[in-house]
Amino acid sequence: MSKTAELKKLEAEIVANKKLPLRGANLVFGEGNPDCDVLFIGEAPGANEDRERRPFVGRAGQLLRKNIRNLGWKEEDVYITNIVKRRPPENRDPLPEEIEAYKPYLTRQIGVIKPTIIVPLGRFSMNYFLPAAKIMRDQGKLFKVENYFILPMLHPAAALRATSVLDLFEKTFKKLPAALEKAKTGNITPEQPQAPRAEKKKSREDVQGSLF
Ligand code: URA
Repeated sequence: MSKTAELKKLEAEIVANKKLPLRGANLVFGEGNPDCDVLFIGEAPGANEDRERRPFVGRAGQLLRKNIRNLGWKEEDVYITNIVKRRPPENRDPLPEEIEAYKPYLTRQIGVIKPTIIVPLGRFSMNYFLPAAKIMRDQGKLFKVENYFILPMLHPAAALRATSVLDLFEKTFKKLPAALEKAKTGNITPEQPQAPRAEKKKSREDVQGSLF
C-alpha cells in the first residue's frame, strides 16, 4: 500500500473511533508530503484549523510556514500535523487523557511517514518523545529517540507573544537544514545520553553538542 493510502486508512480509523475525545470538533489529520524528511508536530488545532480542517493555518501557522519558506523549502515538501487531532474547546491546553487518546494515531502516522527529523513544536509534542525535557532548556538541541532525530522548537504561538521568544524560534529554525544534513549523512558523534532513570527503556541520545 502507498504511504498516501496508508494515511487515508489511518484517518478513516480516527473518524470511525467513537471513543475518542473532542469529537464535537472537526478532524485535522495533517498535510504535506508523506515522503518528507522533516515532520512538524504541534499541539492541537485552533479555531482556524478546525474551520479549514488543516493544521497551522492561523497566525502561528503563518509564522511556521513563513519560516519554512525562508529556508528555501516548500511547505508542500514537509509534513505538518498535531499530537491531538481535534480542537480542544476555547483553545485550552489539551488534557493528558486527550493526548493519550490520540497518541497511538500519531505513533502510526510517524511510522508511515518515517521522516528523518521530527520537529516537535512546544512542550506537549516534545514531551511525547522526551518526557523529561524542558522546552526552554532543550529547544534547539538535537536528540535521537529510537530511529528518529528530534529537534524540539518553541511553539510559534509563543513566538508571537514576545520578541525574545520570536528571535529564539527563528534562530533555532535556521539550524534545521544543517541538522537535517548531519542526520542524513550520519555525521554525528553522539554525546552522553541524558535520559532520566524513568526513561531508560527508549534509547535517547542528546547529540546537539556535536552539531551546532
Ligand atoms: N497550534 C498548534 O499547535 N497546532 C495547530 O495546528 C495550530 C495552532
